[in-house]
Amino acid sequence: MTVEINKEDIFRLAKKLCETPSPSGFESEIREVLIEEIRDYVDELWIDSMGNLIAKKAGQGEGKVMIAAHMDEIGLMITNIDKNGFLRFVPVGGWSPRILPAQRVLIRTIDGNTVHGVIGIKPPHIEKPEERQKVIPLENLFIDIGVTSDEEAKKLGIEVGSIAVIESTVERLGNPDVITGRAFDDKIGVVTAVETLKVLEDSKVDAYFVFTVQEEVGLKGARTAAFSINPDIGIAIDVTIAADVPGTPEHAKIVKLGKGPAIKVMDGRAGSGLIAHPAIRDLLIAVAKEEKIPYQLEVLPGGTTDASAIQITREGIPAGAISIPTRYIHSPIEIVHLEDVTNAVKLLAKAIKKVDSAWINNVLRRRIK
Ligand SMILES: [Zn+2]
Repeated sequence: MTVEINKEDIFRLAKKLCETPSPSGFESEIREVLIEEIRDYVDELWIDSMGNLIAKKAGQGEGKVMIAAHMDEIGLMITNIDKNGFLRFVPVGGWSPRILPAQRVLIRTIDGNTVHGVIGIKPPHIEKPEERQKVIPLENLFIDIGVTSDEEAKKLGIEVGSIAVIESTVERLGNPDVITGRAFDDKIGVVTAVETLKVLEDSKVDAYFVFTVQEEVGLKGARTAAFSINPDIGIAIDVTIAADVPGTPEHAKIVKLGKGPAIKVMDGRAGSGLIAHPAIRDLLIAVAKEEKIPYQLEVLPGGTTDASAIQITREGIPAGAISIPTRYIHSPIEIVHLEDVTNAVKLLAKAIKKVDSAWINNVLRRRIK
């Protein structure tokens, strides 16, 4: 296999996917974009009853590997339209209320049209001194779409249950390999999986690339897909926190931008997320060393990925994860380094090629008697 990974392709696909809204439970639009992107590279392609998109690349021997990257992103859902046309909302997924005021939003109407709005904020001139120090609670925020009545809002197709995302485009920064945008969590993981399936050839096991739904609201799609595929191992591709910015002490940076993909050791508060299966963790480390791919080890003190759900499906499925170092996660200005993505693709593709039935039956699990 000659791994030809092109940073331009990664940027182009990241832009296309990140600029397609896909809050949890509303992944149909991005799923169609993905189908067009991958249909020529896979042996089988289907949508399961949860809405996951599953792509199979057949291998030459026994065994099944499941790769999971989630298509959904955190978003907002409209709960109320008041008589003056202002919209109230609840978060879908984990938003910090600090992030939302003064953002532009894009609302998808019931007919699939777009309405632009803003999350309004009181000007400093009329703010009380104590208000300046405080985070505005989510329930006090509202979306202004520039109309003056609920009828006008409804005529535009906005209803209770309409979804919204913060408006944000994907752009290159001062270093053109460093890009910013919304929903790199986890569309940059989706890009990694897509580029991997394109370059993957002659694997010894069947590779199932699962673009999962509803990760941000409880790892739901991965759980059911893992049950139906019943793989020998599962690897999630997601983002992790690069806190390598001013104000964070060296010991608390978790991982650093541009220093290579992270190989997961543990995540969740006190290990409540995933403790990566040692054989998978070690396989990824060995491949990185062998192929001279830079990598970092990741112990993430909060949050987890689809791998946690895969691991405790059926009688247990050994699971691990590769993470893309990402600054400012769960904000509209997330940052990733294209070199980290390229290296994650290399690592994943080479690791899948290492998996065979001998490894599964002798290293991963072992019959004693
Ligand atoms: Zn994620």
